[in-house]
Amino acid sequence: MKIAFIGLGNMGKPMARNLLKAGHALTVYDLTAEPVEAQCAAGAAAAASAADAARVAEVVITMLPSSPHVREAYTTANGVLAAAQRDALLLDCSTIDPHTARAVAALAAERGNAMLDAPVSGGTGGAEAATLTFMVGGDPGAFERAKPVLASMGKNFVHCGASGNGQVAKICNNMLLAISMIGTAEAMMLGAKLGIDPKLLAGIINTSSGRCWSSDTYNPYPGVIQTAPASRYYTGGFGAELMLKDLGLAVDAARAAKQPVALGGLAQQLYQMMNARGDGGKDFSAIINLFSGNVS
Ligand code: NAD
Repeated sequence: MKIAFIGLGNMGKPMARNLLKAGHALTVYDLTAEPVEAQCAAGAAAAASAADAARVAEVVITMLPSSPHVREAYTTANGVLAAAQRDALLLDCSTIDPHTARAVAALAAERGNAMLDAPVSGGTGGAEAATLTFMVGGDPGAFERAKPVLASMGKNFVHCGASGNGQVAKICNNMLLAISMIGTAEAMMLGAKLGIDPKLLAGIINTSSGRCWSSDTYNPYPGVIQTAPASRYYTGGFGAELMLKDLGLAVDAARAAKQPVALGGLAQQLYQMMNARGDGGKDFSAIINLFSGNVS
């Protein structure tokens, strides 16, 4: 299949590589030259703009930082919508706000292109291993068309309903993840301060009603779970800056919907504090250091 891939960052690079490995003909575009050159060395063709990449593609995939980048890549004179073939399928895998996802998909529909929002979970590890989960919003028929392409980059594809609902699922999940991580960090630090061995405490929580993914798989206390970023100085996981971005999307969407997100709003402020301390590049579980001074 002829695929255009736009946005070759931490996630896009390995996703594009997996599409090449699966035998697709890939044309790639990014604002920076280095990742484009690397993909070309692996067999892709380079495009001069998003429009240029989209021109001959049957499927266009974008993996961009946030909402303004997606608007720009699709709707400007050199953007995807200016050049995409009538029946080309458009897949935006970036995490953006649901409102922008719906607005760009509506513009695409006006010119006859089906567009799906398909944000991912699984991080860079999942992107490398082609085990990503895609949360997909948009037309069910377009979802069926997208599946064989998504299968080269991931393992699970969930149709979440109408356009924008993939983004809704993604930001709700990540808001809850932030809240559960902060709660776990607070409980672990309180226990340690009151004198219980953190490993023992985690074991009890993980067989009790406080258990969650943040406590049993990704515990923020160093040394409790050897494979967690906390046990390698909070490196190599999901960056706090990205979590802050996702919380901003959730809080903004809640404001627009006039829906209270009391703990989500507090979580956003705590991640803002973590960033202001200069820790935005660390894994998001390093939020525990707000409660302790540093534990590592
Ligand atoms: P990144 O910043 O590493 O990469 C983004 C790439 O897009 C960069 O190479 C940049 O040059 C390029 N770009 C920006 N604007 C462009 C434009 N107009 N045209 C062409 N290229 C453009 O970001 P990432 O970590 O790869 O994340 C991409 C998306 O995936 C984000 O929305 C992020 O929230 C989401 N996400 C990231 C992770 C993760 O662990 N990194 C996990 C899940 C979801």
